[in-house]
Amino acid sequence: MARLTFIPQLLRRSFSAILAAAILLFAPLASAFDTVVLDAGHGGHDNGAGIGYVFEKHLALDTTRRVEQLLKKAGLKVIMTRSRDVFIPLPERAAAGNRPRDAIFVSIHYNYSRGSGGAGLESYYYHASSYTLAAYIQAYMVQRTGMVNRGVKTKSLHVTRETTRNPAVLIECGFVSNPTERSRMMTGEFRKRIAEGIAQGIVSFKRAK
Ligand SMILES: [Zn+2]
Repeated sequence: MARLTFIPQLLRRSFSAILAAAILLFAPLASAFDTVVLDAGHGGHDNGAGIGYVFEKHLALDTTRRVEQLLKKAGLKVIMTRSRDVFIPLPERAAAGNRPRDAIFVSIHYNYSRGSGGAGLESYYYHASSYTLAAYIQAYMVQRTGMVNRGVKTKSLHVTRETTRNPAVLIECGFVSNPTERSRMMTGEFRKRIAEGIAQGIVSFKRAK
């Protein structure tokens, strides 16, 4: 996938569109849902990733609130694990993902790497039944922002592992540790775009059922 870096931006964007179309064609039937549990990562004493005064917990909350508004406009019910700067333990977040029937769970984070080299967007799932949701959100986030596509990955993260009743994914919206991405994510314009990508991914996943 490293070769993709050399493909011009425009071509990469149309590649994302083709990828999204391919997912539509080949995805197994998605389950019907009318509720989205949105989980803004970290909060309170848990800042998450941070450089200077830029904290993941603030970026994640702002992005999640934007997604909330877009999904409500699209007619979906939204449950937020937090709507302000408070600490919520991981088991409570997973419990929120398991409580409603016919729901999906989406945890929103920003990334961190040692050094400034980490770049791009990635999505995580744990249970195989959550893969398709992750693939939709990943494709539309990349399409909307033109950022590097790090792909859809599986990893044993608490919220995606312990949310078992509903599809559950955790998405990473760029690296706080990368100066270029950090300056971009500090703008409302970027957070608007990434939120649109996340919401489009969720709505398209629902339509594919
Ligand atoms: Zn995080």
